[in-house]
Amino acid sequence: MSLQNPVFIPGPTNMPEALRKACDIPTMDHRSAAFARLYRPAVEGVARILGTTSGEVLMFPSTGTGGWEAAVTNTLSPGDTVLAARHGMFSHRWIDLCRRHGLKVQVIETPWGEGVPLGAMEAALRADTGHAIKAVLATHNETATGVRSDIAGLRRAMDAAGHPALLFVDGVSSIASMPFEMDGWGVDIAVTGSQKGFMLPAGLAILGVGPRAWAAMETAQCTRAYFDLRDMRAACAQGAYPYTPAVGLIAGLAASVAMLEDEGLTAVYDRHTRLAEGVRRAVAAWGMQPCAARPELYSDTITAVVVPAGCDGTALVRHAADVYGVAFGVGLGEVAGKVFRIGHLGMLTDVMVLSGLATAEMCMADLGWKVRLGSGVAAAQEYFRHTAAAPLRAV
Ligand code: PLP
Repeated sequence: MSLQNPVFIPGPTNMPEALRKACDIPTMDHRSAAFARLYRPAVEGVARILGTTSGEVLMFPSTGTGGWEAAVTNTLSPGDTVLAARHGMFSHRWIDLCRRHGLKVQVIETPWGEGVPLGAMEAALRADTGHAIKAVLATHNETATGVRSDIAGLRRAMDAAGHPALLFVDGVSSIASMPFEMDGWGVDIAVTGSQKGFMLPAGLAILGVGPRAWAAMETAQCTRAYFDLRDMRAACAQGAYPYTPAVGLIAGLAASVAMLEDEGLTAVYDRHTRLAEGVRRAVAAWGMQPCAARPELYSDTITAVVVPAGCDGTALVRHAADVYGVAFGVGLGEVAGKVFRIGHLGMLTDVMVLSGLATAEMCMADLGWKVRLGSGVAAAQEYFRHTAAAPLRAV
C-alpha cells in the first residue's frame, strides 16, 4: 500500500482529489473552441480572486519566477531603476532576477522578519524627484520568513510621495489564501503560481496585468520572447495561445476557482487565519516565536518558527522527512538552520494541522530539544475546538 502524509511545506500544497482529477483530461486541440471554453472560466475566476476588473489575467506554462520575469521584462528597459526591499529569500531572488536583466535595483536592506518598510520606501520615492524609479517591487507574503506586508499601505506611501512608479506585487504565497485587492491597492502587476493557494501542481505562472502596465509595454525595451505579454494577450483574444498551453493545469485552475468560490472566499481566508493562529498558539506553547517580528506581520499561510539556541531547524526538517515521512520547510538564506517553516495553506483543515504539530513535537523530542510532548498540540486543540467552523465537505 502506498501511504501518504499531508505536507506542511509552504507550497506546493496538498491537493484535493477533485483537483487532481480535474487536471487529468484527455488530450485536446488547444486551438479548438473547446480550449477557449476551458480557458475563459479559469481567467475570469482568477480575476475575481485577484480583485480586479480593470486588469487582465494571463497565464504562462511556467512558475512564479516566470511571472516575476514577465512583469519586469515587459514593462521596463535595461538601465531603468526599480525600488525593492530585501527582507527574505524571495524578495532577494526577484531583485537578483532584475539585475540579470540589466535593471538597476535600489535595494532597501530590511531585517529578515520585517515587512516592506513603508516609511523608507516613501522616503526613497520622495527623494527621487526626477522619477528615475520606474517600478516598485513588493513581496506580499515573504515565504522565507512568514511575513505579510501591507500593500495597501505601500500604495498610500507611493501616493503620498506623488510618485508615478508602477507597483508590482508578488502574491505567490498569498493569493487565493489571503485577501488580495489588485484594483483596490492600485497594483499594476500581480504575480502568482498554480501550486500554492490554487492547490494545483506547479506549472502555471499567473499574472494580473493592469492598464498602466499595458501602457508601459509600448516603450519597454527589455528582451522578452516566450514571456511576451502582448503576444499572449493577442493570442488569447482569439481563444488560443502563442504556443502549447498547459491544458490540464488550466482545467484544474477552473475547478480550483470553483472550489474556492464554493467554500466562499471570505471563508477560505478566515480558515487560513484560524489555522495560522492555531499554529502560532502551538509555537508559543513550545516557548518559541515566529520569525515575523510583530503580530501585524504574521502570515496566514506560513509560520517560520525560530528554533532555540543550539538547535538546528534544518535537522528537524530532515528528521521529520526521514523518520516520519512528513515535509516541513527548511530555513532559507540568512535564516537557514535558525528556523523551520510550517506551511498552512491550501487544502488543509485543523485536524491536518494538529498532525503536523504533533509530528514537529516528536521530532523535537527525538532530537533532544526541550519540549513537552503534546504541549503545542494542546494549545492548538484548545483554540480550534473553541473556534470550530462548519465541517468541510469532502473534496
Ligand atoms: N515568490 C514567493 C513569495 C514564493 O514563495 C516563491 C516560491 O516559493 C516564488 C516567488 C517563486 O515561485 P516558483 O517557485 O513558483 O517559481
